[in-house]
Amino acid sequence: MALFEEVPSESGHRRYNIKSPVSLESIGEFEAASAAEVKAAVDRARKAQREWATRSFAERAQVLWRWVDVIVERQDEIIELVIKETGKARNEAIAMEVMAPCMQISHYAKRAAKYLQTQKRRPSGVMRFSKKISLVYQPLGVVGLITPWNGPVALAANPLAQALMAGNAVVHKPSEVTPFSAILLKELTESAGFPEDLYQVVQGDGETGAALVEAGVDKVSFTGSVATGRKVGEACGRNLIPVTLELGGKDAMIVCEDADLDRAADGAVRGSFFNTGHYCCGTERVYVPESIYDPFVERVVEKTRALKQTEACDGDIGAVFWDKQMDIIEAHLADAKGKGARVLVGGERNRALPGYFFPPTVVVDVDHDMDLMRDETFGPIVAIQKVRDEQEAISLANDSDYGLSGNLWTRDLAKGEELAGEIATGSVCVNDIAMTYGIAEAPFGGVKSSGVGQVNGETGIRGYCHLHPIIIDTGRKAQGGYPYTPETARGLQKVIRTVFGNRILRWLFV
Ligand code: NAD
Repeated sequence: MALFEEVPSESGHRRYNIKSPVSLESIGEFEAASAAEVKAAVDRARKAQREWATRSFAERAQVLWRWVDVIVERQDEIIELVIKETGKARNEAIAMEVMAPCMQISHYAKRAAKYLQTQKRRPSGVMRFSKKISLVYQPLGVVGLITPWNGPVALAANPLAQALMAGNAVVHKPSEVTPFSAILLKELTESAGFPEDLYQVVQGDGETGAALVEAGVDKVSFTGSVATGRKVGEACGRNLIPVTLELGGKDAMIVCEDADLDRAADGAVRGSFFNTGHYCCGTERVYVPESIYDPFVERVVEKTRALKQTEACDGDIGAVFWDKQMDIIEAHLADAKGKGARVLVGGERNRALPGYFFPPTVVVDVDHDMDLMRDETFGPIVAIQKVRDEQEAISLANDSDYGLSGNLWTRDLAKGEELAGEIATGSVCVNDIAMTYGIAEAPFGGVKSSGVGQVNGETGIRGYCHLHPIIIDTGRKAQGGYPYTPETARGLQKVIRTVFGNRILRWLFV
């Protein structure tokens, strides 16, 4: 059964019906905005941005603090809606879609003024005697925000808070499969007293997203799949607008021989099953040296068997988001089993529950010939490969087109840090599941096919600004310079020989 379907429309707009993965019942219908409507939203946002940019950081922060108040007051509405729309386990709906946005918004309300403070500098060299520099973080204007379905509130609220604190307006195109979370998010911002048109939601599909990129925005913040990211990147290149692309991953976990096995097994289970595996930094591959392989697998199996999946999503593992994801999970497992993998726990769709549920699954005897170890599965599967040693684990971890994040487990923290440097990903966690996105100070972003640019913290919020250098000449005399004569030319060459021909002087000069 398709959970997302186009239905007839009388308005001339594309119209869709959405069913819940939990009950398979319809949640509602919505219509996609036309390209002209998207453009009109961007034009309105531009007007709202002009006034917003004149507000101080403290004034902008006041609006964001009210937004946090509203989220706290209306958290039950968010939780119930997100569970219905995405099938997340209740604890994950709370942690990811309420707690994380509260943390993210508060972080930027409190710290944006520091991150974006104008910097006063003196230039180096002789310029220091006559010039000073002000580096001003100016807002870019209108940001086009395009988001995926796996964190419909969190993955929108975080960039939204950053873009707004930096003085921008935002036009948001949420995923076509989670439109209702975006409607609620918009309502929350209205209750918080956001200025009209500062944050707008344009509902729609890929075509609507593409229209937003072409609608005259000043930056695109995109989170989604690699395939779409490429198209968005191309369109932004053509329009000469900056873009951050936060794309898919195939995170590896490496268990070192000296790891605390109980803790590492917990990490494998949590890292692979969190958000039903629908997590860009979910652990999708686990590499374990043969010396510790059996006791590690035993622990993972035991911990997985203890997990509960319930019809109401109040257990440990939620529903699979939609039929498309279920098809990928089942296809990857079938491919792996056909090539010799063994399923130790789970492995078949949970038909005892009415919705789209797949049980927490443990698979062993996997290798890199299998789709399960190469392509993003995005499902509740721990896939464990036996390796000779830690070095083989690292080279297999790096044998991937993706490079988002990863995790490594050892009792020797210095060794952990050193080995982390050998993993070719945007970030690495030692003795924890991939937590980078949850720590605002850590720049987050992928390498290889996992993305372009970094978001979050000081680096991320500055990405919503143009750093505008203002150079001020503090001298009192006219600059002079003309007329050029053979003497002035010889004089310049003499300076070059004297200063740059001397190692000490050139060191002091610049
Ligand atoms: P998707 O690429 O299918 O869709 C993402 C968004 O792009 C949606 O809003 C969609 O409507 C829009 N879109 C589609 N075509 C477009 C086009 N041509 N131009 C502009 N917009 C277009 O991704 P998805 O299935 O919603 O999300 C899951 C993917 O997102 C996974 O690969 C996951 O790993 C990734 N993801 C990455 C991060 C990260 O921070 N790196 C976080 C969450 C999810």
